[in-house]
Order: sequence, then C-alpha cells, then structure tokens
Amino acid sequence: MVLEKLGSSLRNAVSKIMGKSVIDEAAVNEFVREVQRSLIEADVDVKLVLEISRRIKERALKESPPPGFSRRDLAVKILYEELTNLLGRKPAEIPMESKKTNVIMMVGIEGSGKTTTVAKLAFWLSKRFGKVGIISADVMRPASKLQIEQLVGPDIPVFSKESKDPVEIMREGIEFFKRERYNFVIIDTAGRHKDESSLMSELDAYREIGPDLVILTIDGTIGQAAYAQARAFAEKVPVGGVIVTKLDGAAKGGGALSAVAASGAPILFIGTGERVDDLERFDPERFVSRLLGGGDIIELAMRIEEAFKESRLMERMSKGKFDLEDFREYIQQLGKAGPMEKLLEMVPGIGGRVQLDVNSGEMDRWIAIINSMTPEERRDPSLIRGSRIERIARGSGVTAKEVRKLLKSYHQAKKLIESMSSESKARRLFRRMGI
Ligand code: GDP
Repeated sequence: MVLEKLGSSLRNAVSKIMGKSVIDEAAVNEFVREVQRSLIEADVDVKLVLEISRRIKERALKESPPPGFSRRDLAVKILYEELTNLLGRKPAEIPMESKKTNVIMMVGIEGSGKTTTVAKLAFWLSKRFGKVGIISADVMRPASKLQIEQLVGPDIPVFSKESKDPVEIMREGIEFFKRERYNFVIIDTAGRHKDESSLMSELDAYREIGPDLVILTIDGTIGQAAYAQARAFAEKVPVGGVIVTKLDGAAKGGGALSAVAASGAPILFIGTGERVDDLERFDPERFVSRLLGGGDIIELAMRIEEAFKESRLMERMSKGKFDLEDFREYIQQLGKAGPMEKLLEMVPGIGGRVQLDVNSGEMDRWIAIINSMTPEERRDPSLIRGSRIERIARGSGVTAKEVRKLLKSYHQAKKLIESMSSESKARRLFRRMGI
C-alpha cells in the first residue's frame, strides 16, 4: 500500500483512542501526539503538522458528538477531515471537451518520472475517453519515444520526427492527431535538468502551443522539497495539475503530497509503480480513508455528519421553526432515509402525521427549486409571490405550478410542525401542572 508506514502508525493511534473508555483531555493529547509523530515521520512539514494538531485538539475537545455517537467517534472523524484538508479536499477535474482534441502538455524535472507518466496517463485516458495519441518531443533524449512505445503497446500511437525543434514536432503532431479526430494528445517535453534553469523553456513551448492543460510530474521521494518545485514551475507556466510519482514505497510521500497541496496545485494522480497501469486517480477523501483503515472511516464520518444535520433539524422543528432551508434539508434526509415519514417519526409528538405527496424524481426537482431561491426567500418564504414564483420556476427549469405545489406542501408541513410543537409544549406544561 502507498504510505504503508504512515497508514499503520495512524491506524495505531485510531485503534488506541477507540479502545479508551473515557475521552478526556489527556486522551486527546495522547492521540494528537501520536498523529503528530506519524506525520513528522512521513516528512510532513512541521508547521503544517503543528497547525493540524492544534485544530484536532481544539475541535475534539470543543465540539460535541451528535446523539448516538461518542466523543471517540468524533475524534476519528475530525482526524479524517483534517487529514483530507491537508491533502487538498476534492479530486481535481481533468478538463476535457468532447468535440475537440484536448492537448495536455507534461512538464517536469529530468528523472521525475515524466516520460513513464505520459505513457501511464495515455493508457488511463484511452480506457475511459476514447482515442489518445502521444507526441514525443523530448529532443534531448530521443530514446524516450521507444520507452513510451514499450510501455503503451501498439494501440496508442506515438508521434515524433527527426528535428531539433521541439515546437515543430509538437505542432505537426497536434495537426496529425486533430486530423485523425483524437480525443486527447499528450505531449512529452524535454525534462528540465535540476541544475539548469531550463533546457527548453516551458513558457516558450506553452505560448507556442497553447495546450488545454499543463501537468507537472513531481518525484514523491523528494518529500517537502516538492513545495519549492511546484512553485518554481507554476511561476513559469500555468500548472493545471500535478502527478506525484514513485509513491510506492516512498517513506517521504506524505511530505510530498502535503507540500504539493500546500503549493495550491491540485493533485490529479499518483504514480504507484513502474508499470503502465500503476497510476491512481487521487481523491483525498478516499486516500485518507484507506490510510486510516478503509471504507469504515468514510462511513463513520458520513454517519456523524448526517446525525449532526438531523439533530440540528430536529431541534429547530421541535421549537416549531421550519423555513425552506429546513424543508430542503428535510427532503434531502428523506431521500436517504427512504420512507417519507421516517424523519418526522423521530420527532416526539409528530410521528407519522406529516405526509408529503412527493416521489423521488420530484424530490430532486424540489431541491432544484429551493436552490433557485435567494437565501432571504428561503428564510422568509412569505416573500415568495407573483413574479418571484416565475423567476424561481425559470431558474430551476420547472413550471410555476410546480413551484406553487412545493410551497403548498411546505406550508402544510410547517403548520403541522408548529401545531405539534405547541401541542407538545402544552402537554409538557400540563404535565408540570400535574394535569
Ligand atoms: P523522466 O526523466 O522524468 O522522463 O523519467 P522516467 O519516466 O524516465 O522515469 C525515471 C525512472 O523512474 C524510471 O526508472 C521509471 O521506471 C521510474 N518511475 C517512474 N514512475 C514511477 C513510479 O510511480 N514508481 C516507481 N517505482 N518508479 C517510477
């Protein structure tokens, strides 16, 4: 597994805190210390480590777990979230247009794994998005064409020609693949030597060719130095994404990944071996959950998040508060929970008495309708009249009739919730008075 050592020491910290019966300040401190040690051993920058430990500690002690969960669960969820943030959150998109030949230019320092990664990426894209061609424009190392051909096999063509001018090779290659209606072209450029400022200026080639995306390959074994390297390239060309290579067995991989994320460049893929299929899409959430021991962690984090939302919603509803933002939350919860009445059944005194006449296709449309409203309208639905209804309908691609139907259902639900909450308030009052 990638970053095996970091994973096993983090899992160790998690299982220790999971085994504790009381989660007090001392237990949180111990947990945070172990996380700190694991990250520093994986070469994550000390400043980042201190920042993340401060946040975990503060949140684990201050936030309260939602009903049904322990402070232990919450601490693990917080670790998961903070590590995910450290690695850059959502997976970055690969920009592509279906009606044209998308041009990707690969840049990187010599030896970073650039040529191998060109082959890997071509292989990956060709399995998913149609025809992919490669242009080998590394004039300093003509043998790289053969290296790519050996990796990708006969199905992916590699264009090159005898020339000392890389831009000429790139231009002709792009023309060729455009004529043949390829979906993607990946250009292998000459790698910059560590000690020279440039062999071929990346900026020159970028300006001449105007690729749709520039991808930088960074050697994952260099650890924190990845930060400076990512910045240095980004100063020359607009780097749209990074592929961190050689993460198989790289003890400093945690440092490289967090350093690239800190530089602001999104990590698109990671290289996990020398073979053509050793390339993995990088998704921080999935990556962290695997480090921490698998799908259970994502599952736990999601369940806690849902429970948080549910308890906030229930608290508001039991006070008789219910605006269109709550209604949207309510519909979303229903979509997950299944039966319509499920959530309301959980609110004492309301159980099963609010029936919504809505099916699952309609649910998505209702959410779209509510999303088309302004925050003021959602908080104060009485504003929604006349031309506002028309505007919301246009914005969400439905008819005004449908908007009115949603509002009617909302008002019915709100009325019930208000009456229920005052009913239960009255009941409580009667009980206190001994009636
Ligand atoms: P370039 O000079 O940047 O084009 O680098 P190459 O693509 O020639 O790669 C340099 C060396 O790194 C080669 O021996 C590759 O097999 C190796 N390499 C590239 N990517 C990976 C990877 O993800 N894992 C491992 N273990 N080796 C890799």
